[in-house]
Amino acid sequence: MIKLPIYMDCNATTPVDPRVLEKMLPYFKEVFGNAASKNHPFGRAAEEAVETARKKIARAVHVSEECEVIFTSGATESNNLAIQGVARQFQDRGKHIITCVIEHKSVLDTCRYLETGGFQVTYLPVDREGVIDLQQLESAITDKTILISIMHANNEIGVVQPVAEIGRMAKKKGVFFHCDAVQSIGKIPVDMQALSVDLLSLSAHKLYGPKGIGALCVRKRNPRVRLTPLIYGGGHEQGLRSGTLNVPAIVGFGEAIEIAMREMVEESKRIFLFRESLRTQIVTALERVYVNGSLKHRLPGNLNLSFPFVEGESLLMELSEKVAVSTGSACTQLSMEPSYVLKALGIGENLVHTSIRFGLGRFTTEEEVNFVANYVVTIVKRLRELSPIYQVARVEKTRAAV
Ligand SMILES: *Cc1c(COP(=O)(O)O)cnc(C)c1O
Repeated sequence: MIKLPIYMDCNATTPVDPRVLEKMLPYFKEVFGNAASKNHPFGRAAEEAVETARKKIARAVHVSEECEVIFTSGATESNNLAIQGVARQFQDRGKHIITCVIEHKSVLDTCRYLETGGFQVTYLPVDREGVIDLQQLESAITDKTILISIMHANNEIGVVQPVAEIGRMAKKKGVFFHCDAVQSIGKIPVDMQALSVDLLSLSAHKLYGPKGIGALCVRKRNPRVRLTPLIYGGGHEQGLRSGTLNVPAIVGFGEAIEIAMREMVEESKRIFLFRESLRTQIVTALERVYVNGSLKHRLPGNLNLSFPFVEGESLLMELSEKVAVSTGSACTQLSMEPSYVLKALGIGENLVHTSIRFGLGRFTTEEEVNFVANYVVTIVKRLRELSPIYQVARVEKTRAAV
C-alpha cells in the first residue's frame, strides 16, 4: 500500500534524514554549551562540534584551506551577505553588478534594493532552455563591474548554468563571482576551485538537513574577498555574522552534507532514472506536454512540465489531494503570480499557469513515481475532455492530418 499524500516537492524543501536528526539530538540536551564560551568544557564541546561541521562543509565544496565557511540563517541570508557585503566593501572600485533574470528572489530583491542606493545591475536574460549566453555576459562586464552573481542550478526548472566558464571569465576580468549552489550541492559536483567561485551560498534544508541554517563560503586567498557584515554584535564568524551559533542545526548541516557527498553518485543515478521514468510515462500517455528548461543541463530530480488545454488551478487542486507538487516556486505561489522563471524562458502566461514542478528526492520510491505518473495522466485527460478549446484543437489536428 502506498502512503498518501506523496511528497514530490524536494526543490522547495526536504525532510531531515533520520541519520541527521540522530546526530543533532545530543546538542539540544547534553552538549548545550555556547560555542563562544571557550573557557569551560560545555562551550568547548559545542565549539568542537561546530568546527567539525565547518570542515565537512569546506571539504564538500573542495576548499579546505582556501576558504572561510560562515554560518548564516539560510541561503537567503547568505545571498544577502554575499551581494550586499561585496557591494558595500568594494563600491569605491565600481558600482556595477551582473546577475540573471531567473535567480532566486533573495538575489533579485537584494539587487533591486542596491539599485535604490545607486548601484547599477545588469539582469542577463536566458534562452528558451533557461541558460545564459556567455557572450552576453562578457559584453556586460565593464571596468565598474565588481560582482557577478549567477546560480549553479535553478530551483524551478533545475537548469544548470555553465558555471566553470563564468568563473573563468570573472577571474580573467578581476571580478568577484558569487554562486548560489543551494540546489546543486549534493546532486552534482560543486567544486569552488574548479569553478573559480569566490563566494558560494548553501542551505541545509534542501539537502535533508534542518531549516534555518545555511552557509556562505568565502575565499580568503587568490583573491581574498573582504565583506561588510549585515549583522553586528559579538563578532562571531570572523565578525561577518554576529549571533550565538545554532549548534544543533550546524551539526545537522555538517552530517547532511557528509552523507550527501558519500551517496551522491549512486543517489543521483537512481533519482535520474525515476525522473526519466516519470517523464516518459507522462509524455507517452498524453499528447502535447512540454518540458520546461533544458533536459540536458539539468539536475537529476527536477521535472517541470506544462499541460496545455487544462486549467492550471483545477489541475493543481486535484493533484494536491494526493501529491505535493508545486506550480513555479514556492515563493511566487504566495502571491499567485505566474512564475517569472517560466516567463523568462519565453513561455506564454496561459501556459505558465498550467505548469507543474515535480521534485524527486532521496526518499522517492518507484511505486510513488508510477502512482504520480498515472494520477497526472488521469487528471489531465479528464480536464481536457472538459475543455472546449482542447476539443477544437483536436478536430483541427485531425483535419490537418487528412
Ligand atoms: C531555497 C533556496 C534559497 C533560499 O534558501 P533558504 O535557506 O530557504 O533561505 C536560495 N536559493 C535557491 C536557489 C533556493 O532554492
